[in-house]
Amino acid sequence: MYLCEINLYMLQKPIYLDNNATTPMDPRVLETIIPYFTQQFGNAASRNHPFGWEAEKAVENAREQVANLIGADPKEIIFTSGATEGDNLCIKGVFEMYAQKGNHIITCTTEHKAVLDTCRHIEKIGGAVTYLEVNKEGLINLEELKAAITPKTILIAIMYANNEIGVIQPIKEISTLAKERGVLFFTDGTQAVGKVPVNVINDGIDLMAFTAHKMYGPKGIGAIYVRRKNPRVKVTAQIDGGGHERGMRSGTLNVPGIVGFGKACELCQQDMQADTIRISAMRDTLEKGLLKLEESYVNGSTQHRLPHVCNISFKYVEGEGLMMGFNKDIALSSGSACTSASLEPSYVLKALGLGDDLAHSSLRFGLGRFTTNEQIEFTINAITETVTKLREMSPLWEMFKEGINIDDIEWAHH
Ligand SMILES: *Cc1c(COP(=O)(O)O)cnc(C)c1O
Repeated sequence: MYLCEINLYMLQKPIYLDNNATTPMDPRVLETIIPYFTQQFGNAASRNHPFGWEAEKAVENAREQVANLIGADPKEIIFTSGATEGDNLCIKGVFEMYAQKGNHIITCTTEHKAVLDTCRHIEKIGGAVTYLEVNKEGLINLEELKAAITPKTILIAIMYANNEIGVIQPIKEISTLAKERGVLFFTDGTQAVGKVPVNVINDGIDLMAFTAHKMYGPKGIGAIYVRRKNPRVKVTAQIDGGGHERGMRSGTLNVPGIVGFGKACELCQQDMQADTIRISAMRDTLEKGLLKLEESYVNGSTQHRLPHVCNISFKYVEGEGLMMGFNKDIALSSGSACTSASLEPSYVLKALGLGDDLAHSSLRFGLGRFTTNEQIEFTINAITETVTKLREMSPLWEMFKEGINIDDIEWAHH
């Protein structure tokens, strides 16, 4: 009895609030995929025996589940190893396929590295890329997009929702503009698919990349959507081989991964509304709780934003100290260099116009399907405590409290 009570009231730690980096696999997904490692292990391309037929049937079932979630036809789904490969395949594939039409691509500065690094590569091989800036809300300017389109433009590549700040771009307006000008529209849908109602028809998307491990499916499996009518879109394969996936992506299919991806899509579709209500309420509680701290700011639009994400900067707090204050108990990402491979603070936050200090002292909260109210309550308390403690030791905070404008002093150094 006593032990039971302890289990009920003890919060398991660390608490996971980094669901934008990856999500745990839903147990219902795991259950679905296990037989495909052992009993139904066939190669989906084996045409001569039931092992192959079973595997193919499972893949086609999953293709339908994936297609259903985004309003596509199953024939428009091409399985990949994830969104990084999907971003590469869509951008490089369009660049090669439409080389006769032009060589110009338009993207924006807050894209994921899988898009930005691919665009850098395109520039090295003779392409031209325009990188649109974003405003302080993290949104692109449609007039600037319009002005950037030239007769050589073949692709607009703008993400659906940003991985660091959760900001949702004006997808319908972008696709309308693209259609008017006869340019293809590709979107990295990784953070949006499964969380908000993404529909390739309503949204006017021509190509999209997304991945299972950000939506409670397994890692190492993703897909691209490639429109088949109005217009019929084609991409040049980046991996050649047996001609799998309608020749666009060769390689033996990851059957268990695909089955899990399909199940994850089905669950997201089924649970989206309920999940959104529950998770966004927790997100709002968290945000409200943390904004009670003086000089704390939400980064990016709060109006055009994913329901499970918030990104907050705490002024007059040093980034590394902030993470060290609670990272034994709470797993989350920060905009600070110390948690990433590069030395620069988050380029996304800098693109919004944040200074290095505010970018360093930011935290990204990615809530998920398995986040609980107790975890949120603990997080509010732990972060409030850490920020308060750090500020008590900070000479900058002391100066701020004495009414000295620190921004003016910093300007004097330059
Ligand atoms: C995670 C992520 C990717 C990369 O996806 P992988 O499947 O891990 O390769 C690409 N784009 C965005 C926006 C992401 O959040």
